[in-house]
Amino acid sequence: MIAIRQRPAGRGPRNLRNRGGVTEPTHEADARLSAIEAGLCRVPGVELRGATVGDAELDRHLRATHRDPYLRELERRCAALDGEQQDFDHDLSCPGIELDTPLVRETVALAREGTRTALSAVAALADAPLRAAYALCRPPGHHAGPSWLGGYCIYNHAAACVAALRARGFRRVAVLDFDFHFGNGTAAILADDPEAWMLSVHCDTERAFPYVPEPRHPRLQTIAFREPPSEADYLDAIAQLREAVRRCGSEALVVSVGFDGIAGDPHGGWKLTPEVFRGVGSCLAEIDLPQCWVQEGGYALDRVGACAKHLAEGFLTTRQGRMRAAGEGDA
Ligand SMILES: [Zn+2]
Repeated sequence: MIAIRQRPAGRGPRNLRNRGGVTEPTHEADARLSAIEAGLCRVPGVELRGATVGDAELDRHLRATHRDPYLRELERRCAALDGEQQDFDHDLSCPGIELDTPLVRETVALAREGTRTALSAVAALADAPLRAAYALCRPPGHHAGPSWLGGYCIYNHAAACVAALRARGFRRVAVLDFDFHFGNGTAAILADDPEAWMLSVHCDTERAFPYVPEPRHPRLQTIAFREPPSEADYLDAIAQLREAVRRCGSEALVVSVGFDGIAGDPHGGWKLTPEVFRGVGSCLAEIDLPQCWVQEGGYALDRVGACAKHLAEGFLTTRQGRMRAAGEGDA
């Protein structure tokens, strides 16, 4: 499988958050991607590549994902900030959800590189071994909606990948999201798309961000845990989503990868171990579709590398075995 490395963007700022009027630094930083990449480099069969998608293609898919006034306002506000300034006064948060993500001068540049990385994973599917590519992107994207940001997310990489897959001829696309948090932005962007499904397992949305009731629409299927799930229950939920992907007749799959369900994650609350992702990867490998994986959350810096390693190993081992059994060789 191909893994796409993100290009540097300025200082690659560490994300901040606002808690009750107090600004604090967070673990949403370049170190996350370095740790995940280090874990993946230990897996035979993972090939690292740089991001390849140019600005014109990036802009086209961002405009297909977000509303123009939102894109313009983000750019205007970030360009107006000086070095260390933070903009907490913007009105770009999702209505009804507390403003938690400030803008800094580099916010747009960093988010653009995140989406460029994700779109480059879609582009890499054309010749990717095992028809899978993994975008090592930050900040995460799945809380960013049509015209709002939140939870560190500025641009929605997963939804942009849906647009890019469409442009490459995949009509019906499913997004499978296993981040600890619900991808409210992805759900909102895809709600009006009759050929896009969203399948998600997450912590109850009123107990964890975004702290609002879960939305409903006909192509949104979710499994929400009110209490921390056992590993068996979590893997059973993933298997249910795998079946939902099969039933919806999807032609390609976008996976929103989140590692914040493991014990010790500063934004989580569950007690999964990194080893559980071997089972998740194996389950994904049983979905016989081209797959573009997009990094969402996961903030336990000493463990996200192990999560990525287990996920990729589970996927590669199972998919290689299935292809050998089908007489297709290892390619
Ligand atoms: Zn998350």
